Amino acid sequence: MKITISDLVKTYPGQARRATDDVSLEVADGEFLVLVGPSGCGKTTLLRMVAGLETPDSGTIHIGERDVTGVAARHRGISMVFQSYAIFPHMKVRDNIGFGLAMRKVDPAEIRRRVDQAAELLQLTEVLDRFPAQLSGGQRQRVAVARAVVVDSGVLLMDEPLSNLDALLRLQFRAELKKIVREIGTTTLYVTHDQAEAMSLGDRVAVMRDGRIAQLGPPLEVYDAPADQFVGGFLGSPPMNFLPGPALGHAPDVLIGVRAEKVAVDAERADDTVPATVEVVEPTGASMLLTVLLDGHRLKVSAPPTFETSPEQQIWLRFDPASLRFYDPETGLALLTR
Ligand code: ATP
Repeated sequence: MKITISDLVKTYPGQARRATDDVSLEVADGEFLVLVGPSGCGKTTLLRMVAGLETPDSGTIHIGERDVTGVAARHRGISMVFQSYAIFPHMKVRDNIGFGLAMRKVDPAEIRRRVDQAAELLQLTEVLDRFPAQLSGGQRQRVAVARAVVVDSGVLLMDEPLSNLDALLRLQFRAELKKIVREIGTTTLYVTHDQAEAMSLGDRVAVMRDGRIAQLGPPLEVYDAPADQFVGGFLGSPPMNFLPGPALGHAPDVLIGVRAEKVAVDAERADDTVPATVEVVEPTGASMLLTVLLDGHRLKVSAPPTFETSPEQQIWLRFDPASLRFYDPETGLALLTR
C-alpha cells in the first residue's frame, strides 16, 4: 500500500514556526522510507499526522487510493511501533502479540497461527508464555514489533523504535528489523534522529530540516551528493568536510565538500598531492581517522588502519576531482557543476 503525503502544513498552537512546512512525499508500495533529521525538524509530527494522531492545518494524506486525512487513527489500517513501546505487563507475550488481532475479533485459531508465525520471525517462540518483566529489553522491543507486524495492515509506522536499547543491542536489532520488514514486505515509514540508522535501514531517506525535506533519495546517493551543506554535515560520521575553493586551487566563490574517506593520505610527497599537518590521530580499528590542517583549514581524513603518523607531522593529501562536490558559499546549496 503506498502512502501519499501532499502539502502537509502543521503549526502547533502558540508556535511561530511551522512544525511541518508544506511537506509532500510518496512512499512506494513495499518501500522502507526513513525520515531523519535533528531534534525539532518535524519528523515525529509528520509521522503522527500519517498515523492520525495529529491533525494537519492543510494538506492531504492518502493510504493506497483512499484519502485518510480526516479518518480516525484506528480506521486508517496502519500498525505502529513507538519509542515507548506500550506492551502490557499483565499479559503474556503471546497475548501481547495477538492483542491487535483479538481487538479486531479475528478467529482464535487464526490468531494463534499468526502469533506463532510472527514469534518465529522475531525469535520469540521460546518466550511466548512469559510475562514482559521476564524479558530482556531487546526481547520486549521485539514483542512490540511483532505485535505491529502480526496485524498485517500494509502500512507500518515506527518512531525511534530502537532508542531504548543499548548501543550493541541497537546495532543487532537494526539488522534484524531490516530483514523482518523485508520479509513481510510492508510499506514502512520510520523516524529516527540517528543518521547511521537511517542509512542502514532505508530504501530511501528523507533528510528533514526546519519542517521541510532538505533531500530525499537512496542513502548512498544522498551521502555521496548532498543537496546542500546541511545534509552533508548531517549524514555520515565524520560529517562531510567543507573547504573554501582557494584551499584546493578553485575559485573563491565556491565551497568544496569532500568525504573523509575520499581523500588519499600519503606519507610521501607526489606531484598531485598537497601538504597538511596532522593535529589529532584517532584509531577506529577499521581506519585511522586524522584531523589535519590544510592551509589553515581543518578537515578529517581517513587513512588505512596501519598508517603511522603523529600530531605535528606533515602528511600529503590527494583529492580526486571526481569526489569533490561544489556548493554556493552563501546559500549552502549544491552547484550544478558535477
Ligand atoms: P525529536 O527528534 O526531538 O522528537 P522531531 O524532529 O520529531 O524532534 P517534532 O517533535 O515533530 O520534531 O517537532 C517539530 C516542532 O514542533 C518543534 O519545534 C517542536 O518544539 C514543536 N512541537 C512538537 N510537538 C508539539 C506540541 N505538542 N506542542 C507545541 N509544539 C510542538
